[in-house]
Amino acid sequence: MKITVIGTGYVGLVTGTCLADSGQDVTCLDIDEGKIERLNAGEIPIYEPGLTELVTRNHAAKRLTFTTDYAASIPSARCVFIAVGTPQGDDGSANLSGLWAVVETIAPLLAENAIVVIKSTVPVGTNRKTAARLAELTGRNVDVASNPEFLKEGAAIDDFTKPDRIVVGVDRPEVAEVLKNIHKPFLRNEHPFLAMGWESAEMTKYVANCMLATKISFINEMANLCEHVGADVNEVRRGIGHDARIGFKFLFPGVGYGGSCFPKDVRALIRVADDNDMTCRMLAAVDEVNDVQKHVLGEKLYRYFDGDLSGKTIAVWGLAFKPRTDDIREAPALVLIDRLLSEGASVRVHDPVAMKNVKAVLGDKVAFCEHHYDAAEGADAVAICTEWNEYRMPDWEFLRHKMKNCAIFDGRNLFDPAAMRDLGIWYTGIGLAGDD
Ligand code: NAD
Repeated sequence: MKITVIGTGYVGLVTGTCLADSGQDVTCLDIDEGKIERLNAGEIPIYEPGLTELVTRNHAAKRLTFTTDYAASIPSARCVFIAVGTPQGDDGSANLSGLWAVVETIAPLLAENAIVVIKSTVPVGTNRKTAARLAELTGRNVDVASNPEFLKEGAAIDDFTKPDRIVVGVDRPEVAEVLKNIHKPFLRNEHPFLAMGWESAEMTKYVANCMLATKISFINEMANLCEHVGADVNEVRRGIGHDARIGFKFLFPGVGYGGSCFPKDVRALIRVADDNDMTCRMLAAVDEVNDVQKHVLGEKLYRYFDGDLSGKTIAVWGLAFKPRTDDIREAPALVLIDRLLSEGASVRVHDPVAMKNVKAVLGDKVAFCEHHYDAAEGADAVAICTEWNEYRMPDWEFLRHKMKNCAIFDGRNLFDPAAMRDLGIWYTGIGLAGDD
């Protein structure tokens, strides 16, 4: 069975590569000619652990090809996965212009038995509209399926090949069977394959992301309260996590969630509610709390320097919105850097893989450093925005000598405040006892 995956971003490239690696014949298609040229030359445009090796192996075996040519790849495809971006539009809703452009382009090229599978995150009703539009354009019924993706950047290959579950939304059970067959290599260890209606599948993706965003905003708000009442959120976290109804996962306080999914998906679901004359009060609060949280480190730095950051040098460790990715979309570090620059501070940054992307946005407004110790050279403070493993065990003595003033603003609670006090290092985290 031939498969075409349209959109070679984080989701499309991982999907196409993992399907090819399970022995299937996959073409990855993108409108970005530069991206396809790089892929054909063996260069992977995104950072995702393990992806380079998988792409290289499957490309060499000719199970995985890259093209910009719709006419060459769509007519022979039994399944056409759409994984184009659905970024936030001006009014908060998902911008589906990429998806609709794809639908118009593929309609005249689709094989009689083709199944169009929407992997992009799309608002409720989009699969139904796609089926209707394809029927208009082709004069026949084209099978459409929703197949939302739940992978996490940084662990995308594992998530795709060992999924917690696979969700498909269909209007005919036969379509679900074809999709189950495609995913068979990833369902061997009793991973659930859940077939449901289009609308339920579309909602499942948004509800999952909104639930996760809610957990983050909840613990962040509780962490801020802990600081005010002299409690330690780490102790509180342990105290609640042992309750099996609550658990430990996804309850780490920090500097807010970012990335290409949680912020836009929360706002898109708020819009879906609006469009249906409903108000999602909780989601509005989740979004608002997150916006506030992205400013917490900046505020702490501002207070520490008595409201005058001008002339100060601040090192920022971690730029990506989370570790093991180069994705900086809606990254909290960018909000902090913006504040520091606007207050007249000099900023020295480090990230193991995301500096190239930040350079494209900030140019020479900040100093890019090859090592996180170099970023700390002569700094008045270090602010940690991403919990990269390599930041977890610094040589504090060495740092103390490198820095002008050894003050650590830890947005990811990597260190034990008592141990830092013992070392004589000024330290603040998020929601820790004794924090201001
Ligand atoms: P991305 O921005 O990394 O990649 C999108 C790709 O689509 C780009 O390469 C772009 O050039 C291509 N594209 C746009 N219009 C096109 C067209 N008309 N024809 C061909 N290609 C086109 O996006 P992403 O992060 O991979 O996300 C894709 C979708 O998956 C989104 O809806 C997102 O919400 C969802 N999703 C993302 C993640 C994630 O972690 N990134 C996880 C789950 C779901």
